[in-house]
Amino acid sequence: MSILPNIVHVALEKGLTVDEKTLGKDEVRFICPWCGDETNKGRRRRKYHLSLNPNPGKNIYKCWYCHENGGVVDFIAKLEGRTAEDVLDGIKKEKGISTKKRPPRHPFETLSYNQLKLIGYDPDIRGRMIEFRKVDPYLARKKCDEIWEDWQAFQEQEKRKAFKRLLAGIKTGKYAAAIHDIEERSRDIGHDLLPDVFHIYGQPNPPEWSVAARQLVDRIANLTPSETKAVLDVFKEIAISVEERTQKKA
Ligand SMILES: [Zn+2]
Repeated sequence: MSILPNIVHVALEKGLTVDEKTLGKDEVRFICPWCGDETNKGRRRRKYHLSLNPNPGKNIYKCWYCHENGGVVDFIAKLEGRTAEDVLDGIKKEKGISTKKRPPRHPFETLSYNQLKLIGYDPDIRGRMIEFRKVDPYLARKKCDEIWEDWQAFQEQEKRKAFKRLLAGIKTGKYAAAIHDIEERSRDIGHDLLPDVFHIYGQPNPPEWSVAARQLVDRIANLTPSETKAVLDVFKEIAISVEERTQKKA
């Protein structure tokens, strides 16, 4: 017997909208959680594009509209924003099956689904790299290194942004709001930025970029309102041109 939950039960537990007349059949229809909002916009009769097959040996889903498809583990993973591996571990744990996790072979394997997405990778890359490693360990290693470096660069950027946020908070007397923002961002990216930021703040020899950031914030704090507006306008310009350039590159 499969340890996996019935996909229809999962969909019902998650509150997906079912086409009731299909319940109990081989194909149970739901409103697709990924494309349903869009395809049902302004419609009287609702479209149940998501098709679930709960039969043993199947337990699969497919959307006839957006073509999302896969098995029950993948279904839960997508709905909850977790990795398939993580979901499977959870199910095993629930069933009392030991989940001796093999230690990650590469630090990049510790990145979550969401973290991989944040740095522009398809979260399934982890599973694919495990397969790829069997074919070409050398190239696989290089690719893993590259992903890990991208994550570290991303963290560094986040750290710098958080640091500037903290400085601005201190200067404007809105320290608590700054801490709140940094905590929120930490949750979004799955990495605690506060210790990083305080570490820089307390360092006797702070990195050069942080000194420049302090000088900038000091100067901005002493500007008149009209000067502040001019500076912000320039920042907006810069941000837009950077965005355009990165889009062209992509
Ligand atoms: Zn869909």
